[in-house]
Amino acid sequence: MRGMLRSSAKLIILGVGLAALAASAETAGPPSTSQPRAYLLRNVRIWDGRGEEVSAGELLVVGNRIQSVSRGRIAPSPELHAVTIDGGGRVLTPGFIDAHVHMTSVLPRQQQQESDPVYIAALEIRGAEQALLRGFTTQRDVAGAVFGLKQAIDDGYAVGPRIYAAGAALSQTAGHGDDRHYTDPPKWLGGGLTYDERTGMSVIADGVPQVLAAAREQMGHGAAMIKVMASGGAASEFDPIEITEYTLDELKAAVDVAASFGTYVTVHSYNSASTRRAIEAGVRCIEHGHLIDEPTMKLIADRGIFLSTNIVVYEVPPVGISERQRAKFLQVQAATDAMMKLAKKYHVKLGFGTDLIYGLDNKARENREFTLRERWFSPVEILRQATSGNAELLAMSGPRNPYPGKLGVIEEGAYADVLLINGEPLKDITILEHPADALALIMKDGKIFKNQLAPASRGP
Ligand SMILES: [Zn+2]
Repeated sequence: MRGMLRSSAKLIILGVGLAALAASAETAGPPSTSQPRAYLLRNVRIWDGRGEEVSAGELLVVGNRIQSVSRGRIAPSPELHAVTIDGGGRVLTPGFIDAHVHMTSVLPRQQQQESDPVYIAALEIRGAEQALLRGFTTQRDVAGAVFGLKQAIDDGYAVGPRIYAAGAALSQTAGHGDDRHYTDPPKWLGGGLTYDERTGMSVIADGVPQVLAAAREQMGHGAAMIKVMASGGAASEFDPIEITEYTLDELKAAVDVAASFGTYVTVHSYNSASTRRAIEAGVRCIEHGHLIDEPTMKLIADRGIFLSTNIVVYEVPPVGISERQRAKFLQVQAATDAMMKLAKKYHVKLGFGTDLIYGLDNKARENREFTLRERWFSPVEILRQATSGNAELLAMSGPRNPYPGKLGVIEEGAYADVLLINGEPLKDITILEHPADALALIMKDGKIFKNQLAPASRGP
């Protein structure tokens, strides 16, 4: 609509005929379609997203895919008019993937609830761009009405990562997604929608029929997976963290809907009881998991379940939280070391996520997750979690995968999501904490969004 208005204003100003009409139709399209069709990345040391080492080579990107990877020279056909970029011997990696974000949480909670929706949308767009400039070419959004933002990015009207969206998270009454105040009555006593329900962050559904409807609703919006709140949480005021939320039958109902659409359910679950119940229901991914005991961690490993956890969000207690929230926060923080040791001991498939909410300043800490994981993992293990490991989790969306192709790897045919890094991330992972310095080039979907290197040349 705004594009149309801009176009018609232009027509009036120019006051010309059909030629101008054609020109304005062109300017109404997405802005970022004028990049070269092919790039040859030369003089780079490639880390492919899986291996232990880097190896010198070259990479040819055509359209939005990696067409070839070679240890020797690549000679692209002249009709490609490939633009050559000399990487100066830098390390080339796949773009990073964050498995746990909330892109629509852009302000402290109360401020967000009092803000104009267009202001919030503008911050979401800025936040998406900032995430891409931190090297995250893909994000998995596990609660929030992010479908419009995803569409704007995919269509080229906004700049940001690929988005795998769950839509609204399903919560029971008085569960982790129930954001009512003490004085708000429940719906069955005349209460209305909560703020989180009105804005698509969560949906309160009780009993099998409501869970079926709520899960189908998310799939109808284009969700890549279903998110269910299966235990108490830390950020919420009222639900104790050690409780289970949802009955086995309710969890199975969500799993049935996801399975009928060919995808999976992931659950917010901190404790062992909630995690065991979710696994029994057929859930395939656990978010958080900080309080899981050893037998439950072993069960996660034995069943090949993903553990999509996040460390950075528990580094510093957020300001302005209640005493009750603070106590839960510290409990989770204290349990983190044991969880990570168990996950490592049983070789659990470990997602790399951050869960930073309540403001763009807070989200700016996203890359600190790399540094914090060094306590338990080597740089290459952490990089694998943030690339090919997370990509395996994304692929569980099956036919609901919005980007059906290889992600998180540097291989022929994979999406061209590529970073060039200043320094040696396989030796010192902490350099990635400062992406403005560390990232020399950011390419997503075959398009360049940051390039510190010398101007590209047509060649060879
Ligand atoms: Zn979360």
